[in-house]
Amino acid sequence: MPVYAAPLDNFRFVMNDVLKAGDIFAKLGLDDATPDVLDAVLEEAGRFCENELLPLNLSGDIEGCVFENGVVRTPKGFKEAYEKFREGGWVGLTAAPDFGGQGLPHTMSSALDEMVSSANTAFGMYPGLSAGAYRAIAQHGSDEQKQLYLPKLSDGIWSGTMCLTEPQCGTDLGLIRTRAIPAEDGSYKITGTKIFISAGEHDLTENIIHLVLAKLPDAPGGTRGISLFIVPKFLPKEENGEIVAGARNGIFCGAIEHKMGIKASSTCVMNLDDATGWLIGEPNKGMRAMFTMMNAARLGVAIQGLGLAEIAYQNAVSYAKDRLQGRALTGVADATKSADPIIVHPDVRKNLLTMKAFVEGARALGLWVSLQLDIEEHASDPKEQEAASDLLALMTPIVKAYFTDAGFEATNAAMQVWGGHGYIRDNGIEQFARDARITQIYEGANGIQALDLVGRKLPANMGRSLRRFFHPVAAFIAENQGGDLAALVEPFAKAFGKLQQATGFIAQKGLANPDEAAAASTSYLRMFALVAIGFMWLRMAKAATAKLSAGEGPESFYASKVKTARFFMTKILPEAEQHFRAIMAGSKPLMDFGLDEF
Ligand SMILES: Cc1cc2nc3c(=O)[nH]c(=O)nc-3n(C[C@H](O)[C@H](O)[C@H](O)COP(=O)(O)OP(=O)(O)OC[C@H]3O[C@@H](n4cnc5c(N)ncnc54)[C@H](O)[C@@H]3O)c2cc1C
Repeated sequence: MPVYAAPLDNFRFVMNDVLKAGDIFAKLGLDDATPDVLDAVLEEAGRFCENELLPLNLSGDIEGCVFENGVVRTPKGFKEAYEKFREGGWVGLTAAPDFGGQGLPHTMSSALDEMVSSANTAFGMYPGLSAGAYRAIAQHGSDEQKQLYLPKLSDGIWSGTMCLTEPQCGTDLGLIRTRAIPAEDGSYKITGTKIFISAGEHDLTENIIHLVLAKLPDAPGGTRGISLFIVPKFLPKEENGEIVAGARNGIFCGAIEHKMGIKASSTCVMNLDDATGWLIGEPNKGMRAMFTMMNAARLGVAIQGLGLAEIAYQNAVSYAKDRLQGRALTGVADATKSADPIIVHPDVRKNLLTMKAFVEGARALGLWVSLQLDIEEHASDPKEQEAASDLLALMTPIVKAYFTDAGFEATNAAMQVWGGHGYIRDNGIEQFARDARITQIYEGANGIQALDLVGRKLPANMGRSLRRFFHPVAAFIAENQGGDLAALVEPFAKAFGKLQQATGFIAQKGLANPDEAAAASTSYLRMFALVAIGFMWLRMAKAATAKLSAGEGPESFYASKVKTARFFMTKILPEAEQHFRAIMAGSKPLMDFGLDEF
């Protein structure tokens, strides 16, 4: 069975030494988020994931969910684990204390999400969807809706879903056919079919709160005519002064999908037949509310990619130290054994270090982006809030697409390190790749994230969002050019220069012909991600160098950070140059084909 140890020292290093998150939380008035509290929460979350969730990962994959007589049964042990998760307060970690949550920072829940995704991605889908539903209602719901649903969602006794997709529409939500007819009492009668709905039906909670996109009878066409509704599985009612699940509503699971990965997460066809729903926010403004949910959810999916890469890396390392094959090219490494462990071979090391450089760099970037969520939510200075929102909006498509692409590649690399044994189901390694694959597709396929980046985020606010990233990077380069970090800063500065050049090229060419921007988009997103992760590696190298200079240990931990930064700058970052060249080649090599040539 796969091994997993929560990477607590790495979380501590990034939060305390690189991001100085404690100071930021104090400034934001998050008084409960003291370093001691956060450390205790991290440790407890790590223990829970290692001891409760990991043991259910492989068995959950083999058993999968079962659909019988309209009921979905999650695999053995999931219900008990969910109950412990709920009782531990993990569902409402970042929910507002007014609604029964713990009010802890989003940065903290990113760390929790990573550990959950490593230990059991499929399990994490259930509370993950609830967090999205909580957020949409908290930001766009009426006071009454908040009082009714948020305490239950933050407690975890009710769960949430996000019902967008229909058979004829995935990316293009303007094609939605589900209809909502106003009823006399202010509610709506909703009819239609939703597919691929994660956690649409299951046996973990007393009630399921579906957030459903549908169209009103007089709605304008396309995405401008979509509204968002709350459609509970059981209609809430008051009993002895308490809100409880009442009459069954007309939303039923028709089937579950049999799929490649995350088999313990139910993926449901949901049929709505005159189901009672209530509008969230204004009519025809559903996409705005849904985006609230989607942005946080996209960050969550990015973290899934990262979490799967982390556990894949840990298992690749332990196997590479153990598996004996061949001898080191430079001479026998361990004469007491019949062969040397495969970790002596440069190609195996390349796989391992590529994973390590990605997971540690992406973790730092993911936590930095999550910190913007906290600043956006709690800063009292509107300028600070705006800066955080800009950076968050800019970085969301980048982390969603890159973490999931590179995350999948990392799970694949782990399988390579394991050789044929990685391909055998009982060893649990191929599951990581199967589980990771969907992260590149859902919450907006990665190609769509790239279009979002070049089409919406680059031009946003006349380039202001972009400057929120470019300015601190330029300042860091200027400050550190000649110092201890010079050897790392130099290749990074070149890649950053190319990114700026590519940005100008896309902005200019894209104005005349949108295909130019779209053709460059995936290369540009990857290039941007490499520079963003490179920036985090510089910041980590700087923090680690400071620790080493101060004689603070553990020396090997900090020295390894500096070495990994060097590996990233010399072996991974050069990929940015390839992307640059592909961008500069323009759209013609792609668009110059007739349909009959395919
Ligand atoms: C396991 C699983 C769980 C899911 N969970 C949920 C859920 O909880 N709720 C929910 O609502 N949905 C869910 N989905 C649906 C998921 O979000 C969609 O599958 C996804 O958005 C893509 O839509 P599609 O499958 O219809 O692909 P399509 O939209 O048909 O796209 C196919 C391909 O074409 C590309 N493409 C499409 N349009 C464009 C364009 N304009 N420009 C460039 N490229 C384009 C896409 O990038 C993609 O590669 C889930 C799906 C799966 C498989």
